[in-house]
Amino acid sequence: MAKVIVKDLHKSYGDNEVLKGLNLEVEDNEVVCMIGPSGSGKSTFLRCLNDLEVPTKGQIVISGYDLSDKGTNINLVRENIGMVFQHFNLFPHLTVMQNITLAPVQLKKESKETADATAHELLKTVGLADKADAMPNSLSGGQQQRVAIARALAMKPKIMLFDEPTSALDPEMVGDVLDVMKKLAAGGMTMIVVTHEMGFAKEVADRVVFMADGLIQESGKPDDVFDHPKSPRLQDFLNKVI
Ligand code: ADP
Ligand code: MG
Repeated sequence: MAKVIVKDLHKSYGDNEVLKGLNLEVEDNEVVCMIGPSGSGKSTFLRCLNDLEVPTKGQIVISGYDLSDKGTNINLVRENIGMVFQHFNLFPHLTVMQNITLAPVQLKKESKETADATAHELLKTVGLADKADAMPNSLSGGQQQRVAIARALAMKPKIMLFDEPTSALDPEMVGDVLDVMKKLAAGGMTMIVVTHEMGFAKEVADRVVFMADGLIQESGKPDDVFDHPKSPRLQDFLNKVI
């Protein structure tokens, strides 16, 4: 069974139908990059996967749990899904270490020692071993985003969702964040990444999905999508961004 199954997903805000019947399956260990113009519903889609938005219609099944099933323990599903946003949303009054260990201690009831040890490992992974005691606002944007990734990983998620994780960063910070994401992908993490970094998508994605007007218009292997786009809509989009 696929790790993420989305069937005929619709989402409206009032009269505005943002998602118009999306279908997508993501396999274990797969990296799917989503591209598409602003306003096409990419963020709304990710938020539906994490139950931050309730679909108007359709079905989402994550690791066998149907989100619309009243019997599903949503908190348990959420623990399995890490999410990283464009704006890192670190807790400004907590140190890097406290940011990373808060959820494992409070939600997963890990001991402080265990959570601290995991956090130190994760900080090494994201290249910030020396920043454990720093406050978020003393770090660069790229460093803060890497802390945000470490914080998400501290819950030991089975799936990571990224919503334009490098869009708010100065160009010189982007590479370090993408490197961390590449490492994660190489380690077998199942990932759905909304991104404008076409180079990253080309290199790392198993599959690229092009969204426009609330629908998946085209999807396939990176080479097919980038080098042989079928729809005029995708050709037009790629001409603008590459
Ligand atoms: P993308 O991430 O592809 O840029 P979004 O999912 O953010 O697209 O937005 C798609 C559409 O949904 C936009 O027209 C946006 O204005 C609308 N939208 C997103 N979130 C909300 C909300 N909470 N309430 C009302 N409209 C929303
Ligand atoms: Mg968005």
